[in-house]
Amino acid sequence: MRVSEDRYSRDLRRIQLAHRLIRHEVRTYWIRAFTRFTAGRIRNLLRSYGLVADGVQRHRGSPPRLYTRFMAPAIHTDASAFAGLACIRHLVPAEPVRNAWRTLPSLEFGEAICEAFELFRLVVPGATLNLDRMILLVMALAERQLTVGQCSQCRGTILLDPLGAKRRRCLSCERQPWPIAALPLDAELAEFAEGAGQGRTGGRGRQHRLF
Ligand SMILES: [Zn+2]
Repeated sequence: MRVSEDRYSRDLRRIQLAHRLIRHEVRTYWIRAFTRFTAGRIRNLLRSYGLVADGVQRHRGSPPRLYTRFMAPAIHTDASAFAGLACIRHLVPAEPVRNAWRTLPSLEFGEAICEAFELFRLVVPGATLNLDRMILLVMALAERQLTVGQCSQCRGTILLDPLGAKRRRCLSCERQPWPIAALPLDAELAEFAEGAGQGRTGGRGRQHRLF
């Protein structure tokens, strides 16, 4: 009895998660990865619950993979905010993950990233990055293709590309430099970045403008 109840409960959670992901317009690839449902079952869910008729958009094809786009000025601030939130909510593993796309997805991970994304949209209502892109961001952080650190001027959390341009200031500080010299934070930055994977990123950092 207990076994069948647990199975029923997990299947119900999978259906609920699939609904949530569909409403966030996540691609089928990730819905399958998080719920372990087949593409056919996902299509049935769409039909049987009238989600298409509700105006839910479906994006076809593979999910986005180009994580370096998060460094573009137009989305860097939003991506930095979500990266900080993802670390605080322990979505980013303490140790680098070799193939996050294959190893991270699970029912629990899917629920946790939905919660983080929904919280993010409440805090940043004008954000344009969708959940597909936020999943890509968490995967890149888990593999340490991207990391988090602190703006050298305001100490807000910023997203860093270890192999890219050495951006050390948030966009806001680049546009409006403070009339004081930047603080010598290199040692603290290193410690902060090290702590990012251990879920300690929110301790001393301040997310500029957004939080
Ligand atoms: Zn700053």
